[in-house]
Amino acid sequence: AHLDRIDAVDGAVHAYLHVAPELALAAAARVDAQIAAGEKLGPLAGVPIAVKDVLVTTDMPSTSGSKILEGYLSPFDATVVKKVREAGLIPLGKTNMDEFAMGSSTEHSAYGPTHNPWALDRIPGGSGGGSAAAVAGYEASIALGSDTGGSIRQPAHVTGTVGVKPTYGAVSRYGAIALASSLDQIGPVSRTVLDSAMLQDIIGGHDPRDSTSLRTEWPSMADAVRGANVQGLKIGVIKQLQGDGFQAGVLNRFTEALELLVANGAEIVELDAPSFEHAIAAYYLILPAEASSNLAKFDSVRFGLRVNPQGGGTVEDVMSATRDAGFGPEVKRRIILGTYALSAGYYDAYYGSAQKVRTLVQRDFAAAFSQVDVIASPTAPTTAFKLGEKLNDPLAMYLNDIATIPANLAGIPGITLPAGLADEDGLPVGIQFLAPAHEDARLYNVGGALE
Ligand code: GLN
Repeated sequence: AHLDRIDAVDGAVHAYLHVAPELALAAAARVDAQIAAGEKLGPLAGVPIAVKDVLVTTDMPSTSGSKILEGYLSPFDATVVKKVREAGLIPLGKTNMDEFAMGSSTEHSAYGPTHNPWALDRIPGGSGGGSAAAVAGYEASIALGSDTGGSIRQPAHVTGTVGVKPTYGAVSRYGAIALASSLDQIGPVSRTVLDSAMLQDIIGGHDPRDSTSLRTEWPSMADAVRGANVQGLKIGVIKQLQGDGFQAGVLNRFTEALELLVANGAEIVELDAPSFEHAIAAYYLILPAEASSNLAKFDSVRFGLRVNPQGGGTVEDVMSATRDAGFGPEVKRRIILGTYALSAGYYDAYYGSAQKVRTLVQRDFAAAFSQVDVIASPTAPTTAFKLGEKLNDPLAMYLNDIATIPANLAGIPGITLPAGLADEDGLPVGIQFLAPAHEDARLYNVGGALE
């Protein structure tokens, strides 16, 4: 049914970069055989899943949305892919994304944009617009995404789906093509909070192949949803995440969701987070710095594309021609920004200052969580904007991330779930909750209570 749906709508939506019908049907047949043999299967066995192209796979190409990796086949599966296969989920294909996960609209994909199934002239969010559109458009039951500054949560917000960025280190990053290693986290995209919880239960846990993987013993996230109860829960609302620049319809749905929680016994506490004002500026220095280093490995020798300059040339000429042809404009912009911020003489002024702001953001969260159990905010300032609207204005695109970036800078978990449709345009609006590190279950509790 999902493959038929993909055939019917993906020409218009373009959620997938690669669909693998034969592999999917073979995996489904294996699950059928297990059922016939009376094997006890996990709760998501047989469920079709879409996989963001940032995650490497042995049997499908992994491009991270870039021409430099066109056709690249990995010799191993990302740990999360291995885990979902072992749990009997059925990968349908690889989903579209902004090149190397840089963007908020999926328009920076080297393979053309994804369209929002709610309105095809609108962006599906980014960088994981493909995964969110696949789930929203019923082209997959559930999906995997990656969130470095909001790439799971913001696409979920604009497509009326659920998205979770787990605590940094809760889910293995092994086999996730790195954007910014200190910010990247893999997580679920789904239509219900319970679906995301069940997927996080499968993909979470320690992985010796990821040096930042936590050894935490995690409680069942699915149980947190099933036993949801917000009686007496203290919910913080941050002043800096609801004022100027936030669309009225987004704020209206946010206020209504809070009222619902209060009606169910939660208490609202107003909070101040002064450093959030500088979070975007800090993020857009730290991210390019780390990305410029991570992307240095695409050198025409080790992976993917190789372009030979006309008339030959040195190794450096080949490298330069390859990177010139293989990387798109946003990737080049960030490599230049990042290498500049890291260069001798500028390091303290740019990278050093950004790291200080990162510490201040962490302190703001620590102060907040000494008063409340979770924090609530709109997930993004606006509903889905029109394709092309911000494409030539990088700063406008970056400002969209104001509410999602702080969680990545602090390594804490965040969830977004649908809060209804905006009055102005009838497009989906999400509400975001944040919790202290290791407290992912709190998010599933609140999400479960609202759903
Ligand atoms: N919009 C953010 C950026 O462009 C989010 C990236 C992400 O989470 N991968 O960096």
